[in-house]
Amino acid sequence: MRILISNDDGILAPGLIALYAAVADMGDVTVVAPDSPQSAASHSITLAQPLAVQRVHVEGPMPFTGLSVSGRPADCVRLAIRNLLPVAPDLVLSGINAGSNVGINVFYSGTVAAAAEAAMFAIPAVAFSASLIGEVDFARAARLCRWTLDRLLGIGLTRGDLINVNIPSLRENAPHGVRVVRQSTAGVEDIYHPFADPGGREMYRLGDQYEFLPAHGDTDVSSLQEGFITVTPLHVDMTNHDRLSGLEQTRWDTPPK
Ligand code: MN
Repeated sequence: MRILISNDDGILAPGLIALYAAVADMGDVTVVAPDSPQSAASHSITLAQPLAVQRVHVEGPMPFTGLSVSGRPADCVRLAIRNLLPVAPDLVLSGINAGSNVGINVFYSGTVAAAAEAAMFAIPAVAFSASLIGEVDFARAARLCRWTLDRLLGIGLTRGDLINVNIPSLRENAPHGVRVVRQSTAGVEDIYHPFADPGGREMYRLGDQYEFLPAHGDTDVSSLQEGFITVTPLHVDMTNHDRLSGLEQTRWDTPPK
């Protein structure tokens, strides 16, 4: 199996190094990842600048030579599939992100975007993120990612599959199991801290503390907080299909010339 690994924390991130070591025996594994941290890059791509690609030797439990790209996570996956890889991968993995990607944070996530980019090429993709609550043991998180991936492959991953996997904080006997759950769409309570720059300009900095607002029923947010590995299938199709049928039934007259 040909596997492409990318991420949004950069090619030297401990989560990526641990993920590589955990899946290296699965086949022909190539790493193409940003040359600098790109968290919250979402699905942005680089238009104004050319992309520099460099071979990078990365030390770790399983040393490897990967390619760094001076761009965003989506740039990495797109460029890898278009130009850098001799053959398109069978599977794309993203992560392991330092920090969970659940609820509406999925929209801001570069980790999920790298996987979504692969899904747009009809290549199955799995995004992995680990909770930063408590001390993160990436080696252990990576073993749990591999365990989850083996089960997903056992069930069968298909064209366009985009699976978001989150590893909970590994405290108090967690993980307690796996929950296949929907993405919470509840808002986030966060704070912009105001300050003045030396020139007296009005400035704001987004604080790093936030809380999810409650949602109904089991979601990725609540299940992760309860110590479960969460598995959420996503899709690139942002169409609101219920609303689509309602709007389709409207009679649309001819637009003005
Ligand atoms: Mn990140």
